[in-house]
Amino acid sequence: MKQNIRSLTRDTLERWLKDMGQPRFRADQILKWLYHHSVRSWDAMGNLPRSLRESLATSFDLDLPGFVEVRGAADSTRKFLWKLADGALIESVLIPANPAAHGGASARKTLCVSSQVGCAYGCRFCASGLEGWKRHLTPAEMVGQVLATEAWLDREATEASASDDPNSNRPRGRWIDNLVFMGMGEPLANYENLLKGLAVLNADWGMGIGARRITISTSGLAPQIQQLADEPPQFRLAISLHGPTDEVREKIMPINRRYPLDRLVEACDYYTRKRGKRVTLEYILIEGVNDEIHLTESLAALAQRLRAKVNLIPYNRVDGLSWHRPSETQQESFCRALKERGVNVTLRREKGHDIEAACGQLRLRAEREASGAVPAN
Ligand code: SF4
Repeated sequence: MKQNIRSLTRDTLERWLKDMGQPRFRADQILKWLYHHSVRSWDAMGNLPRSLRESLATSFDLDLPGFVEVRGAADSTRKFLWKLADGALIESVLIPANPAAHGGASARKTLCVSSQVGCAYGCRFCASGLEGWKRHLTPAEMVGQVLATEAWLDREATEASASDDPNSNRPRGRWIDNLVFMGMGEPLANYENLLKGLAVLNADWGMGIGARRITISTSGLAPQIQQLADEPPQFRLAISLHGPTDEVREKIMPINRRYPLDRLVEACDYYTRKRGKRVTLEYILIEGVNDEIHLTESLAALAQRLRAKVNLIPYNRVDGLSWHRPSETQQESFCRALKERGVNVTLRREKGHDIEAACGQLRLRAEREASGAVPAN
């Protein structure tokens, strides 16, 4: 299979052009076509010589993830199912801006991006790990989720216009200005591809999404957290904590046996010291598993030690798993108890509760339908 050109950083593209005897400025032209105009064909790159377009077509693919389906309402969270070149299915979730968080109506949109097909980490609340890990995503497949979602939004916005040619030269809309790597997969387990994808997403010559608007969420791979702390860009880091003691966390996160809380906290300490940035602790509230009020004492101690913000997320039910979301009263009591201990905490009113919003559910259902394991709706 040919490499997708969107996996290349600018340096790599310039080296390839040099080997082809092409001047350096061709890189700027190509990158502008790819990330400013978001073209989908080599022929659309009108200012390149035909011979160069032919060489590009021989060496690289240009495909974006193929649209399979979207779920959700126009004014709320929408979940996309994409098919990759090898037939693998992945999800991205588009989350509209929260007016309360941004001080008024805003066009801001966040995309939750997948980094692997399936997942090897088997967190017990998550549908992505239910059928194991299949493969890493390439940088182009991560970048492609953003471009394919923007193309979908573009099409939706201009649906009425019959003249909207997807290969026209007009600049495409830049809809997404916030990314969270919280979709399917453990991003830090796909470290090299992640960093290359982030380079394209972040660079001025690429998608131009600021590093401070990109959050990487990890189940707690301590060595890679430290490695990330040594990288130059200032990406944000979120830790899927979900348990404030080893005993509770091990029930939810098998990774805790490899990197127990002491080791995880040491890595987070290193990250905050090195970057001068705080991490966010994600905490999915699960009834009878980690929502007892007495646990707020150890959670508050951890948050204060790391000077971290805590995001409480009520559990989304996953088919095949028996856990439940706590009552709203219990969620609020847990949140209040943390506040009373001086923790900076928010209780997320989960968007997309009704659209199989928990990570990996839409893909799981599609794969089970394809294999005949469950009837299609
Ligand atoms: S929460 Fe993330 S790391 Fe854990 S199983 Fe799901 S996709 Fe994997």
